[in-house]
Amino acid sequence: MSDDLLTQCSLCAKRVCSSEHTDEALDTCPMVTSKDILDSALAKYAKPEFFDFARNASIQEAQCHAQTPFGKTMIHPRVEETYLFAKKMGYKKLGLAFCMGLSNEAKMLTEILQNKGFEVVSVGCKCGAVDKGKIGLKPEEKISQKDRFEAMCNPIAQAEILNNEKTDFNILVGLCVGHDSLFLKNVEQLTTVMIVKDRVTGHNPAAVLYAKGPYYRRLYQKES
Ligand code: SF4
Repeated sequence: MSDDLLTQCSLCAKRVCSSEHTDEALDTCPMVTSKDILDSALAKYAKPEFFDFARNASIQEAQCHAQTPFGKTMIHPRVEETYLFAKKMGYKKLGLAFCMGLSNEAKMLTEILQNKGFEVVSVGCKCGAVDKGKIGLKPEEKISQKDRFEAMCNPIAQAEILNNEKTDFNILVGLCVGHDSLFLKNVEQLTTVMIVKDRVTGHNPAAVLYAKGPYYRRLYQKES
């Protein structure tokens, strides 16, 4: 399929989906090309497992904005937004799947959530102590680049331990790209992301996008 036929909301200049003027949508807009999918997606919100979740997420979203005499201002950083949402949902037991490289952050988050009345189950990514050779890594493909034990990240185990604990809701803290995907594919309960790992930017990948210019020119060079 040619690029100009793909759904490209990220490159859309119309953005009529945020208004009531949807008749002005472009021919490639999913509101034009995928009406059936949109209808069936909308029907899913009526399911009991999604209805309250979607409703409370949007209520929480609104409550992260405060009206002041000078206009809207943002309140509730994500840590606060997350536990306020979990309280709205009536959750009691939260699962934390974290990267061992962010153990301090996981510990602080655990304490905050416990202080707010939640039971917290947490599992680090190296759980299982399995050498990376088990998933086919050669010595030179390890971080150490040496033929010695290096524990693999084990996101499937993290997911299954939290599944077994029957957590109400899970929170990801700093799993690597791909390890997070495996976790999300294998976990049973709905999961939110607190921290995405970015080793270079202090876990703020958007910083690279905001820094567009000479420092990150390589990101905009075309490759086939
Ligand atoms: S849904 Fe349609 S109008 Fe909205 S961003 Fe996507 S292409 Fe643009």
